[in-house]
Amino acid sequence: MTTSRQIQLASRPHGEPTPANFTIADTPIGEPGPDQVLLKIRYLSLDPYMRGRMNDAKSYAAPVPVGGVMEGGTVGEVLVSNSERFRPGDIVLSHSGWQSHAIADASALRKIDPTAAPISTAVGVLGMPGMTAYTGLLTIGQPKPGETVVVAAATGPVGSAVGQIAKIKGARAVGIAGGPDKAKALTEEFGFDVGLDHRSPTFAQDLKAACPDGIDVYFENVGGHVFDAVFPLLNFFARIPVCGVIAQYNATSLPDGPDRMPLMLRDILTKRLTFRGFIVRDFADQSKDFFRDMSQWIRDGKVKYREDVVEGLDKAPEAFIGLLKGKNFGKLVVKVS
Ligand code: NDP
Repeated sequence: MTTSRQIQLASRPHGEPTPANFTIADTPIGEPGPDQVLLKIRYLSLDPYMRGRMNDAKSYAAPVPVGGVMEGGTVGEVLVSNSERFRPGDIVLSHSGWQSHAIADASALRKIDPTAAPISTAVGVLGMPGMTAYTGLLTIGQPKPGETVVVAAATGPVGSAVGQIAKIKGARAVGIAGGPDKAKALTEEFGFDVGLDHRSPTFAQDLKAACPDGIDVYFENVGGHVFDAVFPLLNFFARIPVCGVIAQYNATSLPDGPDRMPLMLRDILTKRLTFRGFIVRDFADQSKDFFRDMSQWIRDGKVKYREDVVEGLDKAPEAFIGLLKGKNFGKLVVKVS
């Protein structure tokens, strides 16, 4: 009988998660049944959406139950296969969660070609975050040559791909990130036209100066004070794909201050703004196009990616808590084995 080291949800956080919200347990997981495989997990993806799964709130996906294994995308190696589709040694994408081993239905797995790209990219630039950037920007944002595209969390897997795809489409890319090192990487590593630090006291003025013709596409990843600085700069007919609002994920109450919603609604009307929320799976039918284009752009050096690799499953809680505070620099993955 195989034992899996698991990180389970011990309790639901109020505000910021803490290490006490997680437990580490070695749990027997049985043996694979018909059309199932036993996986050894190599990489676990850590993503902001996991904060939502820790809450017992109605959302687009069910919460992780208390005592359950934390949810997450994984890259694993097949150890035992009871399926004709997979052999021991195959590398597969699965949604096995925060654990070292898993039993999975063959129908829920996708084979990864380990010779095409590093296997960890299947949960990064060539996986869910890359597809989020591609579909949200191109379907909702629709950047045109010469337009200004703004995105925050811009050194992360979604934001860095948004900026680089905007450039491929001929737009100007203005990236926003936390701290001078990340801001510098935006221009030097990812080829944005401008990189700004949202923690700078002059951030709102810096953004205005960086967007002399206003903003045509704002790819919303964060909300909070970044959104406050962006909103007045939006041009007539600007498009705002609403992808994430990470500044709010740990919030327990509404921010202080006057209710500005009526003024916002007036501007949405008069400027004819398009706000559209989306979840990446809404655009599942674009996965072939995404994979073809993104693979080619990486091969051509038009899209670069950066990974922040944490060694060891036991470090996942600490790394995840850090992600919500901007401690990661690039796509956060845990090297499990
Ligand atoms: P990242 O790896 O970029 O990590 C999140 C980053 O958010 C942090 O590194 C930090 O970057 C930034 N951040 C955290 N708190 C704040 C804050 N208060 N204000 C401004 N920035 C903050 O994450 P991803 O690229 O994986 O995801 C980016 C966004 O996309 C998230 O909101 C996520 O929920 C969303 N998403 C949505 C999907 C969908 O289907 N709609 C799918 C995938 C992701 P920095 O230090 O630069 O500030």
